[in-house]
Amino acid sequence: MPARTLTRMAHDGHTELHDPETDPLATYVLEPEDVRSLLTRVVAQPGAATHTSHAPFTGGPIAAVPLSTPDDVARAARTARAAQRLWAATPLRTRTAVLSRLHDLVLERQSDVLDLIQLESGKARVSAFEEVCDIAMVARHYAVRAGRYLRPRHVPGLIPGLTTTRVLRHPVGVVGIVAPWNFPLTLTLGDVLPALVAGNAVLLRPDPQTALTALWAAELLEEAGLPDGVLQVVVGDGPTVGAAVVEHVDHVSFTGSTATGRVVAARAGERLVPTTLELGGKNPMYVAEDVDVEVVAEGAVRACFVGTGQVCVSIERLYVREEVFDAFADAFARRTRALRIGAGLDHRADVGSLASAAQLATVVEHVEDAIGHGATVLTGAVHRTDLGPYFYEPTILVDVPPEARLHREETFGPVVALYPVASDDEAVAAMNDSDLGLNASIWTADTRRGAALARRVRAGTVNVNEGYVATWGSLGAPQGGVGASGHGHRHGREGLWETTRVQTVAVQHGVHAGLGLHRLFDLGTETWPQVYGAALRAMKAARLP
Ligand code: NAD
Repeated sequence: MPARTLTRMAHDGHTELHDPETDPLATYVLEPEDVRSLLTRVVAQPGAATHTSHAPFTGGPIAAVPLSTPDDVARAARTARAAQRLWAATPLRTRTAVLSRLHDLVLERQSDVLDLIQLESGKARVSAFEEVCDIAMVARHYAVRAGRYLRPRHVPGLIPGLTTTRVLRHPVGVVGIVAPWNFPLTLTLGDVLPALVAGNAVLLRPDPQTALTALWAAELLEEAGLPDGVLQVVVGDGPTVGAAVVEHVDHVSFTGSTATGRVVAARAGERLVPTTLELGGKNPMYVAEDVDVEVVAEGAVRACFVGTGQVCVSIERLYVREEVFDAFADAFARRTRALRIGAGLDHRADVGSLASAAQLATVVEHVEDAIGHGATVLTGAVHRTDLGPYFYEPTILVDVPPEARLHREETFGPVVALYPVASDDEAVAAMNDSDLGLNASIWTADTRRGAALARRVRAGTVNVNEGYVATWGSLGAPQGGVGASGHGHRHGREGLWETTRVQTVAVQHGVHAGLGLHRLFDLGTETWPQVYGAALRAMKAARLP
């Protein structure tokens, strides 16, 4: 794609470069020649039905993307399976070199993909940039560390000196990735890269709303050196095309809601195919009494409202010590009110739009329901139709009673509830009062106290003095939820191992020189248990593992 492809559809039908300052409600469109090569990457029949996604900034159409059928998914899986054999046989350094080149390319071409991400998801450019950084970090991490993570592991054998045992990791084959719309690049390419470096082929089904970003990623991977066929992209709705992916792959990586995760896991379970399920969160933050409230308020604004709150690890419940509750609430509300909301393919806005009418409906419903149950609005709760169809002001609520839906249910929007707490114990109990356990955040000037509290919180990741970036960005560490937030991980060795199968190979030495296990049994049924019992005691005395 050329460096600047986004244009504005003028009212007379022709296109021209968009100037967000003079025309904030312009309809963003892509020139057909700019997206043609992307659209040919969808595995679909010629003349297939299309899905037209709409730009959340304006509600205007973006592009008509061909739709795959379940037969196309089966065909794509066969192509991927054939390509995978050769790909797995290429030296690891060839595979890591693809990631290394991709790292450079994604940074070089960032302005293209930032435009696409914003166009398809409606998020602010600063939030889109998070995705570019994330991909560069994931690519670098696995380019450098995959060799170490995939290296065969020696373990103590049955008989010291005579049994050599190694644990090997093989690619599972074809990995299916079913991705949502909220992180068009991170939740597609970010999961594709480790699966590829492990030697798998990938069958990717991005959400139809954000398919162009995923297709752009596929084009970039090809430029980085990925051979033909190893990555297949299919497009279509979840129950048809997403479900068809689950039918044909050897591992399913699903990111989305808990409800859909259960459906995907049930079908994968019937096929006895393993899953990585990255599901919802109702993530809590605790603010202790020893903090500088201005510092925490800045962190809370980012933790709650980045990506317009449509971030699986973002904060929706905030527990604040009574001693600093009022001061913190004032600082947090003041900083939230100062956020710049708006459309525009530049860095002028801090917060963008919600992604769709469905997201807006949930947000409005949750806020109105909370107000109906007696909640008070500190700031926000305004649908900004003046900015675009789905803009909603970042919203802080207090006095939210347990009966309100947003007290327990994930809103997945820019809405946070503040609750006062009297002690660390009360805060930990409140944080753990949820079936979900994805991410949590603790703010205190005493980092030892923070780390000790973190261990008591039931969540896959806990950030002390940060919202979610510290754990997410620690690429060597696993990222994933517990309970209704799913199972399995991305990032780190655990993330790479998700798409590998383990094989144990034990080699027995000296068998043909008369040192086989039969020598033990030759001692006779009375004697060998005594000899072996003595050997077991000796091994324990020598602290052999
Ligand atoms: P969703 O579950 O409704 O949809 C997720 C994706 O699954 C969509 O692309 C959809 O088309 C597809 N899908 C629907 N039915 C399917 C089926 N039967 N088989 C296969 N795929 C199917 O979720 P959503 O509302 O679109 O996404 C937001 C949710 O995702 C939130 O709950 C959020 O917390 C979660 N999420 C989690 C993470 C994480 O890493 N834990 C990251 C991002 C989003």
